Amino acid sequence: MKTESADILIIGAGPAGSVAAGLLRKQGRDVLVLEREQFPRFSIGESLLPQSMEYIQEAGFLQDVVEAGFQYKNGAAFERAGKYTDFDFRDKFSPGWGTTFQVQRGHFDHVLAQAAERKGATVRYRHEVLTVDVSGEKPEVTVRSPEGETYRVQARFLLDASGFGRVLPRILNLETPSNFPVRGAIFTHVEDRVPLGTFDRNKIRVTTHPEHVHVWYWTIPFSNGRCSLGVVAKKEFLDQYTGTDTERLQAIVKEAPSLQNLLKDAVWDTPARKLTGYAANVKSLWGPGFALLGNAGEFLDPVFSSGVTIAFKSASLASACIARAFAGETVDWEKDYAKPLKAGVDTFRTFVESWYEGGFQNIIFHPNPSPDVRRMISAILAGYAWDKNNPYVADSKRRLGVLEALCAA
Ligand code: FAD
Repeated sequence: MKTESADILIIGAGPAGSVAAGLLRKQGRDVLVLEREQFPRFSIGESLLPQSMEYIQEAGFLQDVVEAGFQYKNGAAFERAGKYTDFDFRDKFSPGWGTTFQVQRGHFDHVLAQAAERKGATVRYRHEVLTVDVSGEKPEVTVRSPEGETYRVQARFLLDASGFGRVLPRILNLETPSNFPVRGAIFTHVEDRVPLGTFDRNKIRVTTHPEHVHVWYWTIPFSNGRCSLGVVAKKEFLDQYTGTDTERLQAIVKEAPSLQNLLKDAVWDTPARKLTGYAANVKSLWGPGFALLGNAGEFLDPVFSSGVTIAFKSASLASACIARAFAGETVDWEKDYAKPLKAGVDTFRTFVESWYEGGFQNIIFHPNPSPDVRRMISAILAGYAWDKNNPYVADSKRRLGVLEALCAA
């Protein structure tokens, strides 16, 4: 079997893999990305957060993303039993980008991968990583090419950005269960036909189920008159509905009159899909000669659209560690990679838990919110979950607990 070599081998050309490839090319590294699918391919995770723009910019991909024609996004709107509230991310506590995009991921991921190629990374589509060995001096993988041939690649460093493929966690037995209950999502794209002026297309809209606080829907408008539509609930809830996934989604949408009304003229032209049990975690985010990026590490929950931002953040932190390691420094991957990454993930976790328990929902629908507190919350919803100057980041559990109690009173 033939053996190739690369400085950096990246498994997966999703957001984490492509941004890491761009950043490492900026360091002058020789980067090989192996991607199992042919792009463009469908993926879920369409609403970006403004914080993600910083990493797109850092990788040198800003012009590519801006010129791709995606839907502009400036905030998030929430609707619960006739009550509406929204956050404009330009009005937020933390400095930095206040706007971003809502993206069809097939196109977005392709734009990023092509941008990485233009920066000099080699991206091979339909090359699937089958096995990984990190016991030797250099990590080594075996790969199946589109022609069905297998070959080996040895790298000085291996980044697993395989997302839900979770290549290294599976092979190296790094999986550990998430402490979230098993939830699932059913989703599709529709031609929404929402009349102009009745729907803020510049925001994701999150609608909660009128009776079940833990069930929520997303509507993510795109720039072409279409919309991503999905519902998230515990598996047991979704299992009550029968028929095709489209019929199940339609039945659940009917239970939320405001959403049903918004989408009353929608054309359901795309079969719905489902995903269950996506929350995942690992025992360690790194090991000898490798690190896990994005969803190959931990995935929490979709409610605050944090997945792509976390994927980018992981790529940025790991690339900085690799730069130091290649310069001969000793890198403490736990201290310099895992800990800083987890700090922001843990902020999101506190907010996600509070969302499903209902406390965070009471906070955002409170009739007399403090403008300062809203700006701090707006910053977190915009993805600035690592900004320790924000008291709701620095001390998120306690601060949010106090606010929950005040808003429940
Ligand atoms: P991925 O995007 O999954 O990319 C991994 C790539 O690796 C894929 O292209 C795959 O083909 C490739 N791969 C896998 N196995 C192999 C292999 N063996 N060899 C080679 N290549 C391989 N996030 C948001 O930011 N906003 C949202 O609105 C949002 N909504 C979501 C809704 C739902 C229901 C769910 C489940 C998630 C949502 N997310 C959202 C999360 C988002 O989908 C992910 O966090 C994000 O895609 C992670 O990026 P990634 O690069 O880590 O992995």
